[in-house]
Amino acid sequence: MSAFILDKLCRGCQRCVRACLQDAIKMTASVAFVDSEKCIECEECMEVCMHGAITFVEGAKVAYGK
Ligand code: SF4
Ligand code: SF4
Repeated sequence: MSAFILDKLCRGCQRCVRACLQDAIKMTASVAFVDSEKCIECEECMEVCMHGAITFVEGAKVAYGK
């Protein structure tokens, strides 16, 4: 399981990028995505996202362009 970002809800504010101590969240265009190889499921990103764009998905890979 790792963090998964729903691009339709993401507003590109980068709060999650700054909150992730594992450097697991990157931006592409104006949407964030999670590198599941680095994510340790600490849920910090979900706490800071004010748009409800982050959820946790079993077996999620890089959420690029989904
Ligand atoms: S905090 Fe939420 S809205 Fe902001 S960039 Fe991250 S996922 Fe997108
Ligand atoms: S759950 Fe934690 S490690 Fe994973 S992307 Fe979010 S802040 Fe980073």
